[in-house]
Amino acid sequence: MKIHNFSAGPCILPQEVFQKMSEAVLDFNGSGSSIMEISHRRADAQEVIDTAIQLVKDLMNVPDTHEVIFTQGGASLQFVMVPFNLMKLNGGKAAYTETGAWAKSAIKEAQRMGEVQIIASSADKNFNYVPKGYTIPSDVDYFHCTSNNTIFGTQMKSFPDSPVPVVCDMSSDILSKPVDVSKFDVIYAGAQKNMGPAGSVVTIVNKEVLGKTGRNIPAYLDFQTHIDKGSAFNTWPVLAVYGVMLNLQWLKNLGGVPEITKRNQAKAELMYAEIDRNALFTGTAEVEDRSEMNATFVLKDESLKAEFNKLWKEAGISSLEGHRDVGGYRASMYNALPIESVQVLVDVMKQFEQKFG
Ligand SMILES: *Cc1c(COP(=O)(O)O)cnc(C)c1O
Repeated sequence: MKIHNFSAGPCILPQEVFQKMSEAVLDFNGSGSSIMEISHRRADAQEVIDTAIQLVKDLMNVPDTHEVIFTQGGASLQFVMVPFNLMKLNGGKAAYTETGAWAKSAIKEAQRMGEVQIIASSADKNFNYVPKGYTIPSDVDYFHCTSNNTIFGTQMKSFPDSPVPVVCDMSSDILSKPVDVSKFDVIYAGAQKNMGPAGSVVTIVNKEVLGKTGRNIPAYLDFQTHIDKGSAFNTWPVLAVYGVMLNLQWLKNLGGVPEITKRNQAKAELMYAEIDRNALFTGTAEVEDRSEMNATFVLKDESLKAEFNKLWKEAGISSLEGHRDVGGYRASMYNALPIESVQVLVDVMKQFEQKFG
């Protein structure tokens, strides 16, 4: 039975991506070698990363002012690389919004390197909303926000005007909807939430904001190193980036961001309509801030938990458990999740209501 994978990450990928990756593990493009044993400097490997970079540029309309790089260390290392590259050595300051667990981790890393001003927070309500109406100070080195709060199921629907460079962690909603890249100076995303398998991170950086901190940046942590080396400064994970490349090709062939936006909206509408309609469940996020990627909801009567868990597991659904910080359930509906899987979950919720409502 095919599993309906609602995991928050690593994410579901299209079947054709898994198929082509598995073929390349045995014989990469008829070369007689596995993609796992070839040099990352071989021409056909080089083509993989160049194509992946170009696909990010095409799909997101990245302007010429910006460069796209692939690195490793997950979004977690970007929490460190961002202040290294943008926060001044002397008197460095940055403004952050605190909208969830990942935002808090980003803040913690930046605090090691300078002053962090938390200019807005939703911690007072266990991060169930996105703060708005704050002003970004003009005397900080940059502003950092998280576009989609994977754990709490909230998503920024608009971005504030900023007098300083804007940095955004888009790990869990990159390429799910249109973004005006020119309004951002750094966008980063761990691949495993919406772009491909775990093992690589994409960063889109405005070249003009680099080289202004006065810091002696370790080579790997310097965005400029990866720009200069075409993301091949050190041995990059060829199989992982190949997975990203294939997934982005799948997205492009399907109609790119405009088409996936429609599909993601349809999935989210179906999911939230059931959460709101069904008498046995409640959504945990404020309605206007609900994430199209991660829908979080809880049972009104926790004593029915075992019954509900049994039903969805029998229907072939996996990884629906909520994060321990929220409890309940989380349906992650990344790009590759078909609407049919959402329909299966909705049907299970309806059956559950008929039995126990
Ligand atoms: C998962 C996630 C991260 C952490 O990603 P890693 O690649 O595991 O370091 C950071 N930010 C957000 C928004 C995430 O969803």
